[in-house]
Amino acid sequence: MTQLSEIRSYRHIQRRKSKQIFIGDVAIGGDAPISVQSMTNTKTTDIQGTIRQVNECHELGAQLMRISVPDEESSLALSKIIPNCNVPIIADIHFHYRRAIESAKAGAKCLRINPGNIGSKEKIREVINCAKDYGCAIRIGVNAGSLENDLLEKYQTPTPQALVESALRHIKILEDHDFFNFKISVKASDIFLACASYKELAEICDYPLHIGITEAGSQFAGTIKSTIGIGNLLLAGIGDTMRISLSADPKEEVKVAFQILKSLGLREYGVTIISCPSCARQGFDVIKTVEEVEKRVSHIKKPITISILGCVVNGLGEAQHTKIGITGGGNNRHNVYLNGKANHKTSTDELVEHIVKLIEENTLN
Ligand code: SF4
Repeated sequence: MTQLSEIRSYRHIQRRKSKQIFIGDVAIGGDAPISVQSMTNTKTTDIQGTIRQVNECHELGAQLMRISVPDEESSLALSKIIPNCNVPIIADIHFHYRRAIESAKAGAKCLRINPGNIGSKEKIREVINCAKDYGCAIRIGVNAGSLENDLLEKYQTPTPQALVESALRHIKILEDHDFFNFKISVKASDIFLACASYKELAEICDYPLHIGITEAGSQFAGTIKSTIGIGNLLLAGIGDTMRISLSADPKEEVKVAFQILKSLGLREYGVTIISCPSCARQGFDVIKTVEEVEKRVSHIKKPITISILGCVVNGLGEAQHTKIGITGGGNNRHNVYLNGKANHKTSTDELVEHIVKLIEENTLN
């Protein structure tokens, strides 16, 4: 007879073995859970607004947040922002070595900077030494949109080989300075290019990888694009930390990231609702109920899976595998299942309130 473990083995993702680094107290790589991060889109000089956005994303589960540091005023603001943030901060720097040093001194736990773009050997050494002194990790962030000119000439267009060669150059600089506390990304807005680049890089090094599809687009289109690209990588076992890149509120990026990870069984977090599209058989308005419940329980962090289906057709099977199951019934009497077993009935008027109460009771502590 087939064992249950064999039946379930097809669901297993074999994660790539990577080195582990720390950004503050957040482990990246090794056997650490894939961490979710996002980036603020406030002016960094708007200190209160930036703190608020960081902490709102943290409330939704973000473990790391990135903040742009384009000028000296932003570095100064960063030193006031970081002590008020509930997650380690990654400073996003392009080219300017002074911003990197200022950010490390301000308390950033990671610098997103490409060592090959910093300038002279002396400046590179200064930044790396500062990262060492202040316990800062570094993210090498190769992007198809800003590849070095000589690589563009060599490959004529951004290719996986060009992105990987760029990454290897930056890696070598850090390794030559005995600096190994780093992770790498090779992002592109093109899914094929990004995935091929990550897969090639994953084959030749064991540094942790930050994955993402860059400039993925609007909330709707970018969510789909990111899910395809990042989902493809995650299914191949690639990815140690991730950011969804949307032209939208960063909170949406965090929600999408968790939904992807939850869908692949890579993270458990908050309330997962299995629900049907509804049809003429529904005993209550499924769409409205799911929308309302989802809003009401978005603050809950403890993992729980519930099912809300409009009738017993598929509802019974789903309810048997969830903590709380609802199936619509006739005469305004809907079935409530607890731990897979029929338990009691409730009415349409009470439905949302009742589901929320059950979820809250089951996620205390
Ligand atoms: S579970 Fe019932 S209500 Fe929902 S889509 Fe299926 S048949 Fe329709």
